[in-house]
Amino acid sequence: MVSQYCLCFSCGLEKEFSPNELACDVLEGWLLVSVFNGNGSIVRYNFCSYECLQEWVISQASLTPEIFMKSLNEETGNNN
Ligand SMILES: [Zn+2]
Repeated sequence: MVSQYCLCFSCGLEKEFSPNELACDVLEGWLLVSVFNGNGSIVRYNFCSYECLQEWVISQASLTPEIFMKSLNEETGNNN
């Protein structure tokens, strides 16, 4: 029997479980995020806690202001 595992994307914590265990029981408290990238591709991230999810969100959010400003300019038709 091949065991499955779930890896926390933030802290690297690994949770291993056998196929006859239910993921929803073993992974109690874990958070799974699906990111839709278009072209039918979905990237899934696993986090062991809200703290780890928050850490990841903050690291992602630091990228957004520039993209956000760019989209604002496009909406208002401001070419600069
Ligand atoms: Zn973690």
